[in-house]
Amino acid sequence: MRDTAGGPRVLLKRLRELMQEPLEPQERLDRIVRDIASNMVAEVCSLYVLRADSVLELYATEGLNPKAVHLAQLRLGQGLVGTIAASARPLNLSNAQEHPAFQYLPETGEEIYHSFLGVPVLRAGRTLGVLVVQNKTMRQYREDEIEALETTAMVIAEMIATGDLARLTRPGLELDLTRPASFTGLSFNEGVGLGHVVLHEPRIVVTNLFNEDSEEEVRRLDRSLGSLRLSIDDMLERRDVAFEGEHREVLEAYRMFANDRGWVRRLEEAIRNGLTAEAAVEKVQSDMRARMLHMTDPYLRERMSDFDDLANRLLRQLMGRGPEDVAASLPKDAIIVARSMGAAELLDYPRDKLRGLVLEDGTATSHVVIVARAMGIPVAGQVKGAVSMAENGDAIIVDGEEGTIHLRPQSDLEAAYAEKVRFRARRQEIYRELRNKPSATKDGVAVDLLMNAGLAVDLPQLSESGAAGIGLFRTELQFMVASTFPRAEAQERLYRDVLDAARGKPVTFRTIDIGGDKVLPYFKGVVQEENPALGWRAIRLTLDRPGLLRTQIRALLKACGGRELKLMLPMVTELSEITQAREIIDREVRHLSRFAHHLPTSLKLGAMLEVPSLLFQLDELMKAVDFVSVGSNDLFQFIMAVDRGNTQLADRFDTLSAPFLRVLKTIADAGARNHTPVTLCGELAGKPISAMALIGLGFRSISMSPASIGPVKAMLTELPLQELEDFFKDNLMAPVQGTPMRALLQAFADDRSIPL
Ligand code: PEP
Ligand code: MG
Repeated sequence: MRDTAGGPRVLLKRLRELMQEPLEPQERLDRIVRDIASNMVAEVCSLYVLRADSVLELYATEGLNPKAVHLAQLRLGQGLVGTIAASARPLNLSNAQEHPAFQYLPETGEEIYHSFLGVPVLRAGRTLGVLVVQNKTMRQYREDEIEALETTAMVIAEMIATGDLARLTRPGLELDLTRPASFTGLSFNEGVGLGHVVLHEPRIVVTNLFNEDSEEEVRRLDRSLGSLRLSIDDMLERRDVAFEGEHREVLEAYRMFANDRGWVRRLEEAIRNGLTAEAAVEKVQSDMRARMLHMTDPYLRERMSDFDDLANRLLRQLMGRGPEDVAASLPKDAIIVARSMGAAELLDYPRDKLRGLVLEDGTATSHVVIVARAMGIPVAGQVKGAVSMAENGDAIIVDGEEGTIHLRPQSDLEAAYAEKVRFRARRQEIYRELRNKPSATKDGVAVDLLMNAGLAVDLPQLSESGAAGIGLFRTELQFMVASTFPRAEAQERLYRDVLDAARGKPVTFRTIDIGGDKVLPYFKGVVQEENPALGWRAIRLTLDRPGLLRTQIRALLKACGGRELKLMLPMVTELSEITQAREIIDREVRHLSRFAHHLPTSLKLGAMLEVPSLLFQLDELMKAVDFVSVGSNDLFQFIMAVDRGNTQLADRFDTLSAPFLRVLKTIADAGARNHTPVTLCGELAGKPISAMALIGLGFRSISMSPASIGPVKAMLTELPLQELEDFFKDNLMAPVQGTPMRALLQAFADDRSIPL
């Protein structure tokens, strides 16, 4: 390869013409390799494409034996071509045969060529193939030649990604890009979703690859970089609490990257080789991502995602695209795939088009997951690799039960899942029919099935689920999805909306329950605690910060003007906390009546029973409040001394074990004895088998997630309560040994065909 004939610009122009000509894919490839060889004055130019079985197959060649096309192959990591694909780095050798990885393929006749330059064909950091040029003479290829071949490889990546080459594949030997792939993460919300990938903050697909005028294009890049830097400076200068601490550090890093000379130089170089500014950003990013994939240093990998984000912002600047265009082009069965995401961002997507959410990061209690659960969409989290393996528009299945996803699923798998979805839909239909039936046991004892809620998005579920009311409104969720403390007016507005949506059905508001695992990043008062679950949280925190509690109570009193206010206090440990809270409430009532505000028609104050100390003063508790609500999530955690968020211990102790059921019975009995209504609003209420047990123990009101109302009601209407009460008389206080309580309850239900 002597001097390049015409340089990369001429070659790119030629490739553009070839892409537009109506040619068969093989013919197009053959012409492309011929043109590259001639432009780069190389005797050989070959393209190897990566198949799903990790084999690189020769797809086209100029110079090697044409009979070797579709026959010559190398495994990933094997030979020079396999090494390039595996490492995602170019190889530039003056004497290829001397390289330790060199592997001779007799069918190609390549022994006479000494110098060798191979570059990976990359797209979004994934290797799709390898592009090679070879010469007989021993020579080292120059930097600009490597750059030119990489640029050409990018055009080929586009061809592969758009499916042009799919027609050349043989059954069983499909390309890697279209390979079905499954990933396992964690289940964050149940349900199954079938649909098409929408990459959140999608890698914008650049289709305009070739520039007409490099100098103008460099100026365009400069202008966009200028606006990008300004927008970052703006963000940094905003005296917004949301941009303190960690957020600020991230932005500082962005500012540093946006001014990084090396990055800008590589972008300009790619433009001078004939690419548009957008394509240059994509190319530089792709090269960098592929190289970083091999890094294990978490700090550097984290920086890579900052760079990715920055490149995306720059692409958006260049293409003048806003987030609203993304929503408009959403498929009707969108499954959002994201590395991580804020709760508010999920709410930006239209609910009617969402079928699921896949996160590479996140935990079951991250805010976005709480919101997704409220929206009733299946969520798989901690699914490593999902973002880089998925392309916008790919078919995808999210199995929220298993925490798995299936990308580009094969038809039999898709059919099996479609059946699962139909089955769920049929069951939903049965639950819908049950909605208007009385909520009572088979022998006619009424039981209130209420739902838990916390955000405005939950409200439509009240009528859809047929719940008798809201048994737990978690007011802290409004605080958790916000970036600063919600103002009094915003709180009042939400409470008013909730009551309006409830149309007279009862609603129980809980005062903010923060602390523990529910942290507000903007709340500066919280110190690091050794045991946050046992720490400064819930009513303990709000009594110490009465301003917070007073504002909330005032907002609630105003929103409930002319209606009933039911209010409960989380994590009560001793009765004096109820007295203190009542004093604050009374003071607010006096204040509002002095200013002639419309007050609630009645005010009922309840306590949550979550801390075991209350179990030893149940009669006093029942007399001190208007109602009690058992928070079984926390109560179980404290009774069994088992962290509710610890996945390792999640299945170790049973909520249906005799000791815990005896505790629950003691509570129900104390409520009945004192004529104090008792309800239960932890996760326990939502599982048909445990709901059955609760009703058998004496609970006549339980509150659960809206999706559970149907299954629990299906159980309820088939339950002969008297028989279950007799069952407990025989079994609950019997010495704990032998068959576990859960198994006995299951057998009780099976014998009577009670659907669980
Ligand atoms: C509980 O602890 O059972 C409860 C309902 O409260 P939370 O899950 O919000 O702590
Ligand atoms: Mg709780």
